[in-house]
Amino acid sequence: MSPRLDGKVALVAAASKGLGRAVADAFAADGASLAICARGEPALSAARDQIQRIARSPVHAVAGDLATSDGIARIVRSTLDRFGRVDVLVTNAGGPPVGTFETLAWDAWQRAVELTLRSAVELTRAVLPGMRERRWGRVIHITSLAVKQPIDGLMLSTSIRSAVTGFSRVLANEAAADGVTVNTILPGFMNTERVVELNEATAAREGVPVEQIERRVRERIPVRRIGEPRELAALAAFLASEDASYITGQSIAVDGGWIQSLL
Ligand code: NAD
Repeated sequence: MSPRLDGKVALVAAASKGLGRAVADAFAADGASLAICARGEPALSAARDQIQRIARSPVHAVAGDLATSDGIARIVRSTLDRFGRVDVLVTNAGGPPVGTFETLAWDAWQRAVELTLRSAVELTRAVLPGMRERRWGRVIHITSLAVKQPIDGLMLSTSIRSAVTGFSRVLANEAAADGVTVNTILPGFMNTERVVELNEATAAREGVPVEQIERRVRERIPVRRIGEPRELAALAAFLASEDASYITGQSIAVDGGWIQSLL
């Protein structure tokens, strides 16, 4: 594939593993200069070194907690110090805890808002003015299939990612005339540690073996398997590219057909 992101600078949040890491790999292979962040320094540095081996451009790693304003400020400042600008932003973070209405007190909601909604809003706020000035930008928010089809136990994820979806859709209108597209990607069940944790939580809640939950999940997915992170990253790389210049305000699932709706 030709390097579609040559000359572009991308910031991919929460990219030491899982979906963010796969997106970072895809962007690096496509030629982007890359900034990645996560909380833990050792895993992040290891990811940076691995990505640098396949990258065509520099890879910069900055440790920071996306659940705090200071962490977000640090991540943005370090990225701008290194590259001077951000052309492509992918917002992403660890998933909020699983729980039902009864098990989640307001402080859990507040922490989830800070991690999931505030990180998306504030990372965007930090880089959007530059994108508008240069009249080119791509903002991609990673959300969840749960915003289109709720999943039992994902009270926080469903509620707060719906807010991210609303934010993203309205922002798409506000930024479109300046050459900035804004879209969300809805992962289905993808092969990452988060899904292992979700399956274990469901198994514990229902008092059944985790293998039974995994089988049930596979049987509900029309393609009969969970997805690989690179299958989501391929969409992110396309949305980040010039080829996707007329796609904005969209929420696109990568879910093997899980979501049962016509649109
Ligand atoms: P993951 O647990 O494999 O990876 C999460 C990444 O986020 C790691 O790099 C971790 O270091 C980083 N991170 C976590 N908390 C952070 C914080 N406070 N500050 C900075 N970095 C932080 O998760 P994943 O499967 O890659 O999922 C990514 C996001 O997509 C999650 O929010 C998850 O809920 C959502 N999602 C995932 C799936 C799936 O199937 N994997 C499905 C739907 C939604």
